[in-house]
Amino acid sequence: MTALLLFPLMLSWLVAAIFGLVFGSFLNVCIVRLPRGESIVRPASHCPQCHTPIHWYDNVPLVSFMILGGRCRFCRNRISILYPIVEASTACLFLMAFRESVSAWAFAKAVVFGMVMIVLIFTDLRERIIPHAVTIFGIAVGVMFSVFYPVNNSLIGWLAGRMGVVLAEPLSSLLGALSGALFGGGTLFSVAWILKRLSGSSKEYLGFGDVMLMFVVGAFWGIPLTYLTILLGSLAGSLVAVTMTLINRRFRSFQWPYGSFLGIAAVGVSIWGRALFTAYLAWERLR
Ligand SMILES: [Zn+2]
Repeated sequence: MTALLLFPLMLSWLVAAIFGLVFGSFLNVCIVRLPRGESIVRPASHCPQCHTPIHWYDNVPLVSFMILGGRCRFCRNRISILYPIVEASTACLFLMAFRESVSAWAFAKAVVFGMVMIVLIFTDLRERIIPHAVTIFGIAVGVMFSVFYPVNNSLIGWLAGRMGVVLAEPLSSLLGALSGALFGGGTLFSVAWILKRLSGSSKEYLGFGDVMLMFVVGAFWGIPLTYLTILLGSLAGSLVAVTMTLINRRFRSFQWPYGSFLGIAAVGVSIWGRALFTAYLAWERLR
């Protein structure tokens, strides 16, 4: 009996993972082509070294990479390990979102946001580029989602309440998205500006791409979770950068992909942030 009940559940997990792998395969195309301003539709997938078109059976997520031993079937050149990593990460994203989401809208929002972040995490990692085509798309979709799925608006709602104004949905949620975007982008912009002033050098610690990335995070999740993202992302980024520099001086001049750190923090916060806040508030009440 239990096995009978488990079967549909396992099947839905399997379907979520397969969808994740297929979408991950598409994200690879975006990650490689968007920073170069190329079309993501044409031409069909080809080997970046010998330009031979890739057959469908050599383009199956994860499986083909393993069968081919990480090399092109024709020229035997290595295929970047990032391809299967992106596919596996997207499958994990779908599984985590499926596990944590309370509704279909919540799931859709979590996976769309996660996929935008995966593209930005890996373009920043590969080429230190955060394409505006992706961030502008992300901001627009984030604001659109706020109409259907409420964004935390406690801060603006509280301010409005003080002035005797009660904000109705979906206006409250829309304001939550807009204020979140301004908060995320504004905070990063200020930090970037201050760092540039303090260092006095032309070296950029944070680029405008990072600012745009935080606009996306804010538009999707509102001020509290965006705040948590900046906190965790910059903490992780600084910890890794300082530790690596202490281990090897070579890393002093290394350009760290802070956008990747912020992106990873944002995906974690988007899936577990609410639970984190709830746990924190419960702990506050206990003290
Ligand atoms: Zn090849």
